[in-house]
Amino acid sequence: MSEKPLAGSVALVTGASSGIGAATARRLAEEGAAVALVARRRDRLDRLAEDIANLGGRAHALEADITEPEQAYQAVQDTLGRLERLDILVNNAGIMLLGTALHTTIEEWDRMVSLNVAALLHVTHAAVPYLIDAAATSPRQVADIVNVSSTAGRVARPGSSVYNLTKFGLNGFTEALRQELLVERVRVGIVEPGTVRTELVDHLGEATREAALRQVSGIEPLRAEDIADAIGYIVTRERRVAVNEMLVRAGDQTW
Ligand code: NDP
Repeated sequence: MSEKPLAGSVALVTGASSGIGAATARRLAEEGAAVALVARRRDRLDRLAEDIANLGGRAHALEADITEPEQAYQAVQDTLGRLERLDILVNNAGIMLLGTALHTTIEEWDRMVSLNVAALLHVTHAAVPYLIDAAATSPRQVADIVNVSSTAGRVARPGSSVYNLTKFGLNGFTEALRQELLVERVRVGIVEPGTVRTELVDHLGEATREAALRQVSGIEPLRAEDIADAIGYIVTRERRVAVNEMLVRAGDQTW
């Protein structure tokens, strides 16, 4: 029997306690990676780690609020401490607090910038040296960063200005980082999901949540596993292949 594509590799997934992150962690474990599960809800992470172990995989729960710079740094260090290396970083944790400038609090804007941008930068900065080392020393001879952006990283809409800011910015950051790291054989890619059924809208106030759900009521949403598929595809390519961008919309989605 041939070895799994990610056997011997270690992946860190932020926002692994629900939605796209949890599905991605499962997928990478199925492909043979040991997975560091990072988020704040410890109970969810423990349950997922147990599920992965029951299926014959390996995962380690790391409770962290990555908007705290020290905890973001420590999540990377603990991954190295527990799982001994780092080959794949999936920057997935994110929040979408919709609302117009007039009706959104500055705290909500701050929360989005703090998680979708600043926390992602802290985790990435801490991880880059280890990813370079993994690319140089692993049998795969390649390492990966996958950033989870959104269709909102390509299309701006009213009520989404700061979410758009974070995701458009992430696309630019990803492309620059890709060019910096390609000589090191660290691939840097972006996945841009359309509408996915997850807990993302649960963080909205009731009226905004209802408006957001109304907007997508006519379409069959993607499942978190559909995005995990895209991420799994990217990181299991051989080193000569770099899939830099995947835009995955729901089939009925016009924007
Ligand atoms: P979820 O709300 O289900 O997942 C968000 C994850 O982020 C949770 O695991 C949450 O865990 C984690 N998280 C939140 N705050 C922190 C924090 N301070 N520190 C560490 N982890 C944190 O939503 P999705 O799965 O949908 O979202 C994942 C990504 O996909 C986001 O970047 C989102 O922008 C993007 N996306 C989603 C789309 C959708 O339609 N669902 C469409 C396009 C993009 P915990 O609360 O335990 O910390």
